[in-house]
Amino acid sequence: LDAPALARYITSGKCKNITLMLGAGVSTSAGIPDFRSPETGLYANLARLNLPYPEAVFEINFFRRNPTPFYTLAQELYPGKFRPTITHSFIKLLANKSLLHTCFTQNIDTLERRAGIPAQKIIEAHGSFAKQRCIRCKIEFDDDSMKEHVLLGKVPKCETCGGYVKPDIVFFGEDLPPEFINAIPRLADSDLLIVLGTSLTVRPFASLAGMVEKDCPRVLINLERVGDFGSRSNDVILLGKCDEVVRDLAKALGWEEELE
Ligand code: NAD
Repeated sequence: LDAPALARYITSGKCKNITLMLGAGVSTSAGIPDFRSPETGLYANLARLNLPYPEAVFEINFFRRNPTPFYTLAQELYPGKFRPTITHSFIKLLANKSLLHTCFTQNIDTLERRAGIPAQKIIEAHGSFAKQRCIRCKIEFDDDSMKEHVLLGKVPKCETCGGYVKPDIVFFGEDLPPEFINAIPRLADSDLLIVLGTSLTVRPFASLAGMVEKDCPRVLINLERVGDFGSRSNDVILLGKCDEVVRDLAKALGWEEELE
């Protein structure tokens, strides 16, 4: 399958349930760095935070001792100033055309919601910045007060017990949300899987790609080959920038005019 053949399959009537897996590469064109790109990725640019190692900034045990580096970074990454990309717009089109089954995302930037993709189709596997709570007593913390703290780079503290407040982003060392676990069986109903902009290195998310049925074509749209893509006879690998590959696909589908 190449892009035109993929387009024919999508419009054949046989393809009704498209499942997506998204990673940070979908949002780099919105101005949000990914983690692992060698020069532009977050991990390559954290020297100013004086961390023992880059991942520490997203580790729950480290955050319990020292939440300041996370909040320094949060000031830059906080949603609000970023706009959805062409790729997000394409996903919304799939939803409009009743082809979108489930959009599993590792992104915490809420750009899927901002693009207008229906909430019930989105599974934010690693949580998001949309809510926050005290890590000690778990009580929710006010949205406006959170925003104020983050924009000033200050660490918010619980008004009830004084514990540190953390957005509902899944840190390394934390469980994934029940919505994610509950949505895993949906993969079996997919008749197309498209994986976009992810290194497929974070588990258990990465393992979803192996959970679709063997006869379900899998498409990878990424700058580089990742995971076990290429190991199945019906795998399609479209290397390039998400927005560019998606635009070509939209063109082949005759949907280019509808992209926002
Ligand atoms: P990653 O940094 O590990 O990998 C990103 C992948 O996308 C790489 O393979 C890279 O080559 C590719 N890529 C980068 N720009 C691209 C583009 N324009 N087009 C196509 N491919 C591109 O990211 P990941 O796999 O999502 O890592 C998982 C973790 O990153 C998650 O835990 C997630 O929560 C977190 N994260 C989220 C955001 C966000 O919300 N936007 C940003 C950074 C990290």
